[in-house]
Amino acid sequence: MPTAPLAGPLFDYWRAGAADSNAFVTHDPATGEPLDTYRNATSQEVATAVEKAASAFSTWGRTTPAERATLLLTLADRLEAAGEDFARTESADVGKPLALAREEIAYDADVLRFMAGACRISHAGAAGEYVEGSTSMTRRDPLGVVGLITPWNYPLMEAMWKVAPALAAGNTVVLKPSELTPLSTILFAQLAQEVLPDGVLNLVLGDGATGAALVEHPAVRLVSLTGDVATGKKVAAAAASTLKRVHLELGGKAPALVFADAPLDAVAAELAATGFLNAGQDCTAPCRVIVEDAAYGAFVEAYCKAVADLRCGDPEDESSHFGPVISRRQLERVEGFVGRARSTGASVLTGGRRVDRPGWFYEATVITDVRQDDEIIQREVFGPVVTIQRAGSDDEMLAMANSVDYGLAASVWTSDVNRSLRLTRDLAFGTVWLNQHLVLANEMPFGGFGQSGYGKELSAHAIDEYSQVKHVMLKAAG
Ligand code: NAD
Repeated sequence: MPTAPLAGPLFDYWRAGAADSNAFVTHDPATGEPLDTYRNATSQEVATAVEKAASAFSTWGRTTPAERATLLLTLADRLEAAGEDFARTESADVGKPLALAREEIAYDADVLRFMAGACRISHAGAAGEYVEGSTSMTRRDPLGVVGLITPWNYPLMEAMWKVAPALAAGNTVVLKPSELTPLSTILFAQLAQEVLPDGVLNLVLGDGATGAALVEHPAVRLVSLTGDVATGKKVAAAAASTLKRVHLELGGKAPALVFADAPLDAVAAELAATGFLNAGQDCTAPCRVIVEDAAYGAFVEAYCKAVADLRCGDPEDESSHFGPVISRRQLERVEGFVGRARSTGASVLTGGRRVDRPGWFYEATVITDVRQDDEIIQREVFGPVVTIQRAGSDDEMLAMANSVDYGLAASVWTSDVNRSLRLTRDLAFGTVWLNQHLVLANEMPFGGFGQSGYGKELSAHAIDEYSQVKHVMLKAAG
């Protein structure tokens, strides 16, 4: 665990003794041992955070894009400078390999930098005389106070995806990280306190009740949630009573469509590496591989071989490809899915059990002989479990890919350009990759279709998400 940046007012403020009746404890997924004890925010603390954000908005909302950009760039530099501490914190809290955590922190700094630049590029709005004697123009205004609620799988990255565009667009923020992994967000908020004016970024800790208090607060103009579909539905329903805007990044069940004309060994290696990244706890992980009949046998063999080379081990071990899952509950959830798949006739080709050691480790698991309406195909496992299905034609593969409720991401692996174009058009997913999977560009939008939610993160679309369009009309003199 890091030592240097932890001592700080925010960390001290949110820490609690185990005897505190309002406390919650985080655990080290690699050992199962307690890590730290924090306090749930009271609803009064949530209200105070919203009031502070509302008060700060009166000045922050009027800063120029250049002023905001300068501060976001400073934040990016400070985050990068403390990168190793952040990476170690994230690795310990989530149980993810240190190398992956390091990549994420470097990427997080770039999200801040992109949004710093993006808010300075004006959108060419309609300006002109649309009614005789009047001149019209449009402007984009910030919303005010926004509530940002993040999950545990990429704690700081998810926070940056929301915080950076929200601040860049001129909003003030109340941020609530997951109760399972709050530490990197606390450290970031501490850092932000030294860079941003008071009240611009506020932190509240706690579980769903704290999140719900934030969603219900009438002064919050927009809530952005990344989380489970069920949580998204609750948030959307609660937000309706105050008619606040809602942005939802929810679950996924990403298909990878593999055709016989693709280089099967290379594709198998790439899909195995991405399918088990972050122990499969990635909403875009290719967890549903669909293979053209002619290539099925060869692909399954190559895929299982590639999976056998992936090391599940300690987060600090440089040779680990993936670590434990986040919690005992998640481990039991994964076991439940695999057990039910087995009992309904699926074949477990590799894995399918806990790793015999302390902590919440589960073996990389590959499942075949499943039907399209099986639970293991239709519901998100969010663990190191991948299914492989076979199909006879492009149309059948497309139909299998699309017939789930989720619509976050998909990939197509083929050397046929026409097939690629047809499938990118017809796949009902917010991101479609061709001959790759999981690669992100901060300049490009990210978000789901269907039950994977609505709204876009990243790119200039995210700035739009956190602002509202106003029409200004002037009567011409004389
Ligand atoms: P979760 O829905 O349990 O929790 C997400 C956040 O919502 C947490 O901070 C939690 O405290 C809060 N929350 C819970 N109930 C709430 C309520 N009633 N009101 C307000 N806030 C509430 O999800 P999780 O288990 O932390 O994360 C895993 C889920 O997130 C998976 O389904 C995964 O697919 C999804 N996810 C989606 C994306 C994406 O970009 N689409 C990215 C990462 C994770």
